[in-house]
Amino acid sequence: MEYLYTPWRYQYVTGSDRTRPKLGVPEALSAWPGETHCVFCNMIAAVEYAVENGMARTEAEASVYLLERGKSCFAVLNAFPYNSGHLMVVPYRHEPSLAGLPLEEAEEMLRMTRRVERVLQVAYQPHGQNLGLNLGKAAGAGVAEHLHLHAVPRWLGDTNSMTVLAGTRILPESLEQSWRRIREAMAADTPEPR
Ligand SMILES: [Zn+2]
Repeated sequence: MEYLYTPWRYQYVTGSDRTRPKLGVPEALSAWPGETHCVFCNMIAAVEYAVENGMARTEAEASVYLLERGKSCFAVLNAFPYNSGHLMVVPYRHEPSLAGLPLEEAEEMLRMTRRVERVLQVAYQPHGQNLGLNLGKAAGAGVAEHLHLHAVPRWLGDTNSMTVLAGTRILPESLEQSWRRIREAMAADTPEPR
């Protein structure tokens, strides 16, 4: 198995980024007084708190790079991406296992993942995609307590550090740029009928 070389993840992987007082809550939403327990639960709670306290919903959601909200799950950019366009599909339910989700919630996750696959293909024209779940720390889950599905656009040669650093295949872009690009592709995508 090959791994992407991503120097910008180093700080996160080494743990120095995990001591932030309100895990997953960005500066713009830092008024949120909630408990620190889970990056995904905190993100949603902080958005709702900000909206209740007068922030425009679109602004609050954009500040955490939320891409889309469904009934039981949402799509959000990974703040520590392996590649441009790296996003996650996450149930609202704080649940570590796919089998532990109610079936209809797992189905909505899969439906949203299918949409994400189409959207990433249009937005980035990658050579391939990784769509997957890591269950448990031993399997590589960064947040093992709360299920999340990774969607990562892949390009031939993107495991090569020189390629990444030289920027010849992957053009690193800011999270803002990724968010705008994916949102545009989402707006142009037709969701599957229920
Ligand atoms: Zn959670």
